[in-house]
Amino acid sequence: MHDDANDTTLNAPAPKYHALALLSGGLDSLLAIKVLQEQGLRVLGLHYVSPFFGKPHLISHWREVYGIEAVNVDIRRPYLDMLVRPAHGYGKHMNPCVDCKILMLTHAKTLLPKYGASFLVSGEVLGQRPMSQRADTLNLIRKDAGVKELLLRPLSAQKLGPTPMEESGLVDRSRLPGFWGRGRKDQLALAAHFGITVIPTPAGGCNLAEAEASARYLPILMNLAEASARDFSLSHLGRQYWAGPYWLSIGRNEHDNKALENARRPTDILLRLRDLPGPMALGRQYEPAAGVQPGMTPQRWSDDVLADAAAFAASYSPKARAQSGEGAEAGRPVVVLVRQGKGEAETVAEIAVTPARQTPLCWAEPKSQALAAWKKRFRTAAPERPKQFFAEDSPEEPA
Ligand code: SF4
Repeated sequence: MHDDANDTTLNAPAPKYHALALLSGGLDSLLAIKVLQEQGLRVLGLHYVSPFFGKPHLISHWREVYGIEAVNVDIRRPYLDMLVRPAHGYGKHMNPCVDCKILMLTHAKTLLPKYGASFLVSGEVLGQRPMSQRADTLNLIRKDAGVKELLLRPLSAQKLGPTPMEESGLVDRSRLPGFWGRGRKDQLALAAHFGITVIPTPAGGCNLAEAEASARYLPILMNLAEASARDFSLSHLGRQYWAGPYWLSIGRNEHDNKALENARRPTDILLRLRDLPGPMALGRQYEPAAGVQPGMTPQRWSDDVLADAAAFAASYSPKARAQSGEGAEAGRPVVVLVRQGKGEAETVAEIAVTPARQTPLCWAEPKSQALAAWKKRFRTAAPERPKQFFAEDSPEEPA
C-alpha cells in the first residue's frame, strides 16, 4: 500500500504523479489506472496518438467520466518509421503490436522525470491476446523497452512476478487483481466496483488491426518513397483506388468531397465535373519508392493518366453517365475540370472524357489478400529501404 509515512520524499516537493500509464481509452487501460488510484497513487494517462489510433478529443471525457487525468502524446513520426519494418513482425493485419508496445513504453520511460513519476503502468492482461500478451511476449516487451524494473501490469499482477514497486511497498500487491485469459467477466465486475457504467471497447480501437483499413495502407507502404501521416490520413477518405502506382481518392458524398479538398497538397490534382453534380476526386502525385513499376510516373501524371482518372471518376456521377448515353448511344463526352497547384499558383484546365468504370488503367480498390503476400515477402526478403523513409509532416493536429 502507498503510505506517506514510508515516503522518503515526504520533505521534498511532492511529485506530481507516482506513475505514468499507457491509456488507449479501452477498458483495461482505464481499470489499470483505477486500481492504483484506489490505493491513493496519482497516475497520469499517456494517450499516444498516431495516424492509426488515438482519440485526442477524449481527454476531457476521461477526466469527467472516469476521474482520470491524461495528456496526448504525438508519436506519428517514430511510429511510421517503425511500421515499415517492425522487428517482431505484424499481427493478423498490419498491427505490429509487440513493437508498438515497445515503442510506447520506451518513449514513456523518457517522460518519467518530466512528471516526477517513478514507474510505468500498462493495462495488458496475461493471455488475453495471441500475439502481444503471452507471458514470453510480455517479458520481451519489458526487456526490449528497457523497463524491466519500471513496468507494472496491475490487472495481471497476481499472475506475474512481483515488481520493485510492489516489493518496496509503494504499491500494495495484495490489492491488485490476477486477471488471465480472454474473458471479460472479471474486468466488467471490476468496472462495476468502480461505478463505471460507460464501458468502452476492450482495446480502444486501432485501424492497423482492421482488415479494410490495413488494405488501404498497404499500397502507401509499397509505393511511396516518403510516406507521411497525411498520406495515411488521406487513405481514410472516400473510395480508394489504385492503378499500379497511381493513387485516386473519390468522394462518396459532400462530406468526403470537402475533406478531400482540405486534404489537398499543392502537388495534388483535383478532378470535378464542370457542369454536372458528381464526386470530387483527388489524385496524389508523389515520389515513388525505388523499383516501383518502371515507365510509370506517379510523381507527374501524364495527360493519358489524367484522362483515364477523369473518365473513371466521372462514372460515379449518375447525371454524367446519363448525359454520356447508354448502349449504342454511349460515348458523348462530359467536361471535367482539372485543378493543380494551390492558391495563386492554381491552374485550371478542362478535359472532355466519356465516363467509364472500366478504363485502360483498370483502377481497383485495395484488396486485403494483398497484405498476406506482402507480409510474406517482407518476412523472406524485405528490401532495405532508404534511411529517411518517412517524411516529417508540417505541424498539424494529430489525426
Ligand atoms: S492493436 Fe494497434 S495500438 Fe494496440 S498494440 Fe496493436 S498496433 Fe498498437
